[in-house]
Amino acid sequence: MDKKIAIIGGSGVRKIFEKEISITNVSTPFGISQPIAIFRENEKEILFTNRHSLPGSKSFEHVIPPHKINSRTLIFALAKMGARRIIAINSVGALKKDLKLGSFAVLEQFIDMTKTRHYTFYDGTFLGHDEILGDTSIVKHIDMTEPFCAEMNELILETAKELKYDIVSKACYICTEGPRLETPAEINFYRMIGADVVGMTLIPEVILARELGLCYSSISIITNYAAGMQERVSFEEVKEVYSRNEEKLKRLLTLLIPKISEDKKCRC
Ligand SMILES: [Zn+2]
Repeated sequence: MDKKIAIIGGSGVRKIFEKEISITNVSTPFGISQPIAIFRENEKEILFTNRHSLPGSKSFEHVIPPHKINSRTLIFALAKMGARRIIAINSVGALKKDLKLGSFAVLEQFIDMTKTRHYTFYDGTFLGHDEILGDTSIVKHIDMTEPFCAEMNELILETAKELKYDIVSKACYICTEGPRLETPAEINFYRMIGADVVGMTLIPEVILARELGLCYSSISIITNYAAGMQERVSFEEVKEVYSRNEEKLKRLLTLLIPKISEDKKCRC
């Protein structure tokens, strides 16, 4: 029971699971966590949470903006509840015209342009010995050569192909601070330095997951073209494209989850 899969996604995704056992909040050294739902699927327990939910509440509503998300409570709580593999869902803007709206992207690299977040569990403060964190006062430089789980990435791509979905492999995600959207000048720069898609929520989630040795893969939904590539970018449009593609996402997850084995073959 301690090798669970966790999904971080929008509230719509939660509906693919039927047998909800409970919803809980975990007390962590970084505050009370976002709500986490536990589901039972084919004898496996699966965790679900929404990064935008209010910590301490039982509601999965989208209320917290990206720059205010407490990712340390989110990732620590999932690990504490036995998650060993995380599938993160997010929506992104495309930096390249050949990426199709409504298609999916699997991430291979990221570039971090955020400014004010908590990037590590190990910031020199001793929080007592925790079985998940160990000693948080140690200096830890986590390797980021392979930030995403190669084994889960492969399974996501294979499953998307079975469903004949458009999916971009090996995308590079650039994470901005937000909540404002980017300027066309920034987008030109981001494209020049190798980014394919832009979003606001990947960092520091992926870093914190890797610090705890958890597998982390992302399924990004391309909801819009970035600033300067279409007339305007509106949040309404992003939400609209996201919800139109949620059914596709649910089908993908339903097929994907049973394929993810508890025994890792990856190097995470
Ligand atoms: Zn892995």
